[in-house]
Amino acid sequence: MGNELSIIQGWLSEARTAFNACATHLDELDDAIGDGDHGSNMSRGFEAASTMDYATFNTAAKALKQIGMTLLGTIGGASGSLYGTFFLTMASHWPSQVNAPRFAALLRAARDAVQATGRAEVGDKTMVDPLDAAVKAMEAAGDDAHLLDSLRAGVDAAQAARDATRDMVAKRGRAALLGEKSVGHIDPGAESMTLVLELSLRHLSDLG
Ligand code: ADP
Ligand code: MG
Repeated sequence: MGNELSIIQGWLSEARTAFNACATHLDELDDAIGDGDHGSNMSRGFEAASTMDYATFNTAAKALKQIGMTLLGTIGGASGSLYGTFFLTMASHWPSQVNAPRFAALLRAARDAVQATGRAEVGDKTMVDPLDAAVKAMEAAGDDAHLLDSLRAGVDAAQAARDATRDMVAKRGRAALLGEKSVGHIDPGAESMTLVLELSLRHLSDLG
């Protein structure tokens, strides 16, 4: 679809602004159960990704692939390879025409790839929790759902799953070193993944 590329471009531009604005908040979340750099990592990654030259791409998939490669090389930390994998999988599975069931299938593939890379299960208090919740809610919305309604259901579920990480014991990543002491804090990666999905709701719903 012709306007997909400009939608990805708009998405990326807003992601840059949003991650810049919440870098301190994400660093603080990571400070409580990690090493305090998740917001700086994400903000650096999206700053680098947004310098991409869109004149060199002619498809959304190519732009997503370049976003993935750039995030992989610039976010750093555990989340760098996971977000890189997330976007590279979105690129390789991008359908010829996006609709609700195809976008749910795309997110499922991205979730599977993130889980294959990081080995986190649902409930381990990571970015996988909101991602998995979004996939399941979008699939439950059904094949006939409008993309906007499906995405909205996905985002609602992701927000609830993010909030639920507060009461969980971390089992993966740096926070796992704290064991029971990780309880009482929202996982920073769950917060950032929810923001990625919220931005998708705002921009991709234009597709259909
Ligand atoms: P680091 O922990 O190396 O400093 P970041 O602070 O950028 O990396 O990212 C931390 C976030 O990455 C965590 O909040 C968690 O959501 C996510 N994360 C870490 N390890 C894993 C993993 N194995 N699987 C899924 N997500 C993970
Ligand atoms: Mg960190």
